[in-house]
Amino acid sequence: PTAAHTHAFQAEVRQLLHLVTHSLYSNRDIFLRELISNASDACDKLRFQAIDDPALMEGDADLRIRIAVDPEQRTLTISDNGIGMSLEDAVEHLGTIAKSGTREFMQKLGDKQKPDAALIGQFGVGFYSGFMVADRITVESRKAGMAEGEGVRWVSDGTGEFTVETIARAKRGTDVILHLRADADDTPHEDKIDKYLRVWTLKDLIGKYSDHISLPIEMRKERWDAEQSKYVATDEWEQINSAAALWTRSKSDITEEQYLEFYKQLSGDGNPPLRWTHNRVEGRSEYTQLLYIPAKAPMDLWDRQQKAGVKLYVKRVFITDDAESLMPTYLRFVRGVIDSADLPLNVSREMLQESRDVRAIREGSVKRVLSMLEDMAGSDDQAERDKYAAFWGEFGAVLKEGFGEDFANRERLAKLLRAVSTHSESDTPNVSLADYVSRMKEGQKAIYYITAETPKIARSSPQLEIFRKKGIEVLLLTDRVDEWMLGFLHEFDGKPLQSVARGAVDLSEVKGAEDEAEKKDEAAQSEDHKALIERFKAALGERVQDVRISERLVDSPACLVATDDGMSTHLARLLKQAGR
Ligand code: ADP
Ligand code: MG
Repeated sequence: PTAAHTHAFQAEVRQLLHLVTHSLYSNRDIFLRELISNASDACDKLRFQAIDDPALMEGDADLRIRIAVDPEQRTLTISDNGIGMSLEDAVEHLGTIAKSGTREFMQKLGDKQKPDAALIGQFGVGFYSGFMVADRITVESRKAGMAEGEGVRWVSDGTGEFTVETIARAKRGTDVILHLRADADDTPHEDKIDKYLRVWTLKDLIGKYSDHISLPIEMRKERWDAEQSKYVATDEWEQINSAAALWTRSKSDITEEQYLEFYKQLSGDGNPPLRWTHNRVEGRSEYTQLLYIPAKAPMDLWDRQQKAGVKLYVKRVFITDDAESLMPTYLRFVRGVIDSADLPLNVSREMLQESRDVRAIREGSVKRVLSMLEDMAGSDDQAERDKYAAFWGEFGAVLKEGFGEDFANRERLAKLLRAVSTHSESDTPNVSLADYVSRMKEGQKAIYYITAETPKIARSSPQLEIFRKKGIEVLLLTDRVDEWMLGFLHEFDGKPLQSVARGAVDLSEVKGAEDEAEKKDEAAQSEDHKALIERFKAALGERVQDVRISERLVDSPACLVATDDGMSTHLARLLKQAGR
């Protein structure tokens, strides 16, 4: 073995460790599921890489996770024979936080030492959660395919630093050894860290959190020793979990709790999901899908480069969690698993993009997700509709990207759209296009909207005056993507969508309470005021394309409008902000 090298943790990791050791005591049990999930990920990675390079299995293809306790030493060890880590891997993966969401989260927390538990629940603490129960963690590992002499030992007490050294290690894979903290004498019984040294507590936790893990999780069989009058560990291992991937079981065998727990692990999101759908699809393409709609947006929702939320398996072998071809970008908030029976195990990135099977899976999955949303949006049950409103608040702006991305489903998306409107004072987007159409005035030909930065700014626009006077509802669109969306959404139910701030607005056929005498057509009025218009044009010169008499104003003397084919003023402002 060479000399050990000491490294400092990245600043965010130090911060995270501080949180973990000082304020996360509410549910310490989760450390076990985090470490088991890492072991399971490591086995998945090996199985995947071994498809191309079978030598990586080193003659031991029975992948499994083992958990062992040593009450005398007060250690709890989680072992796997997965992909393992090289020394460089250990320094990088166990010294920094790679996930952009977590990093952003830590930055957002700033110096707050005691953030609320709900906030913490939103992201997985991962490996570092081990320090909730351990005052020292030793990781010993060897990467698959590397020589016996190229193992690594990583040690840290979870404060500022860790050390790494090269060790000899025959076994491939990783042992995570937790040196459990000593309990203070006054620790209440149920909180004692000692409980993690008890086999039945561990079995219980595995059943609760990790039963769906598709690999066997094993513990040593125990035997009653009459002399010592206690149970002692034997050399034999027994399987604790059922080791059937959750989605492969039939729906009727899965409890709601299990679905929720699986979601938590899959997404790292502590909030229960709004809905999920679990189906086995047969036909041209055969696959199983388990898809969840989260209740809360993750930190990195706006990062379109973020990994897709749906994991691809082929015949229960994990393939990738980075398959954007499985879900369109506008549904990137969906979390879940798709397990194909048809794709080859060594499916490549290019194949994923071109395969007809993948296309069929994507189409089928999009349909499922849209149906879930439609069920909520159109439910007779107010609680369900409220759920949909909450969903729209979190993800509406993302769903709007779909108008440009998914032509085939544009009509379904239009029905799911919700907006603020002048129909009420509420600034919560809860008006559907169908609601709007049902309230259209006799003779009204178009669905009117205005885009602006906020509902308040929209409501105070002089362009709304005539609409207000005539009692015509106007949609107030204030998401950044709205301008872009409107480039694709031209009509609904046969009615064109028209901006109130663009070109000439003809409301002459709308039956209203207006005074007929006031209604002189614009051309005639322009004729009457020709001299005045010429003076305006001369004064404004190049800055405007045209000056005209308008019927859209009631109280204000003038307003700016865009030409029919021109850029809207709001879009021009957005582009200017972006420095274009
Ligand atoms: P995450 O699992 O979300 O990536 P973690 O904090 O749980 O975050 O783990 C950090 C990284 O450490 C993992 O991504 C992986 O690269 C590495 N790692 C952790 N445990 C193991 C293990 N048992 N075998 C191999 N690599 C591991
Ligand atoms: Mg992890």
